[in-house]
Amino acid sequence: MTSARWVLDRCADLNAYSARPDALERAYLTPEHAAVNTAVGAWMRDAGLDVETDAAGNLWGRRPGDPDHAGGAAPTGPEPALVLGSHLDTVPDAGSYDGMLGVVLAVAVAERLRTTELPFALEVVGFSDEEGARFGKALLGSCAASGQWDAAWWDQQDSDGVSLREAFARFGLVPDRVGDAARRPEDLVGYLEAHIEQGPHLEAADLPLGYVTTIAGARRFVLTVTGEARHAGGTPYDRRHDALAAASEIVLAAERLARESGCLATVGALDVQPGAVNVIPGLVTMTLDLRARTDEERDALWDRLQAAAGTVVEARGVTFAAEETHRAPSTACAPWLSEAVVAGIWKAVPGGEALGLWSPAGHDAMAMAAVTDVAMLFVRCHDGISHHPAEAVREDDVALALDALEAAVLAAAARYTQGEATP
Ligand SMILES: [Zn+2]
Repeated sequence: MTSARWVLDRCADLNAYSARPDALERAYLTPEHAAVNTAVGAWMRDAGLDVETDAAGNLWGRRPGDPDHAGGAAPTGPEPALVLGSHLDTVPDAGSYDGMLGVVLAVAVAERLRTTELPFALEVVGFSDEEGARFGKALLGSCAASGQWDAAWWDQQDSDGVSLREAFARFGLVPDRVGDAARRPEDLVGYLEAHIEQGPHLEAADLPLGYVTTIAGARRFVLTVTGEARHAGGTPYDRRHDALAAASEIVLAAERLARESGCLATVGALDVQPGAVNVIPGLVTMTLDLRARTDEERDALWDRLQAAAGTVVEARGVTFAAEETHRAPSTACAPWLSEAVVAGIWKAVPGGEALGLWSPAGHDAMAMAAVTDVAMLFVRCHDGISHHPAEAVREDDVALALDALEAAVLAAAARYTQGEATP
């Protein structure tokens, strides 16, 4: 169970735990979530791990470390753990690797290191909800594990009107016990997540592996452009206040400014009122999603975009308003743990380049960073495709990822013993 073939075959096995026979869809607190936990739990046990499901439906496997080799303060109670893993939930019509590859790689590494003494406990986690596909809130599993559960989430409903609280009970979990899932910082050495890149940069650089420098924190807005709805035939151009024409200029300005600054800006939804073929648009409501390597770059982009929008609306005699609906800080990966990942890449690909990338996509590591040091190993994926059934990885890349993740754990162990990590 320690080969790339084994890892790919297990990822394929997990396609069976789906809400639909013709596609992969595995949402939080569903029967297929329970089934995938059972299947992966069995592999964890085969790898010598003690298995349990926590109070939020996350699946954990653990083996003890050797406290005699630990650096720093000798803990009383169980020794702190280095956690490897990712998530087991998917978006609707998903590919086979987003999340699952990281969990299965972690199980395989645990098996490889089964008889190797480590200065910390080694844990593998399969987070229960990263995508947020069912309740509209991402990272529910890792927010519970990092003690960031918000009681305001309980009333969120899925598309069938089932509340999160009710779904907990149906799954056999006790909502009021969700706090039991929270891990304490003193019980953790770090969280190390392997994941497909979900972007084209490793492929473009002809590299199988990379490491993550920061994970972008997005800002999201609802933008409203208010003009004047008038007869499309009777209103000459000098009397028009076309909200859609102004909104279109703002969409293009967002793209241009983001490209110029190496950031990402996306208008993903747009509503035009009154929405008739013979009426000049009077009102446009649209979403905006901004991401960047750092919060400073992202916020600077927003400042420039507001200024550009101001110029557009002034010229067209319309008004512009923005409401912020979401803001998350970017997450920096811990230098000591990222150095261990780089050491792992060099071990797997001697003489190879360890390319550092910022991740525009969110990951469980963002939530875990609230309680412990985090780092990520990126694996090349075909054409940057993700959240789609065409998601694909190469077997030789998975073999290198397996070697790199194993070597990264050993490099982390060496740094931990030398006292470079602070549990
Ligand atoms: Zn993912």
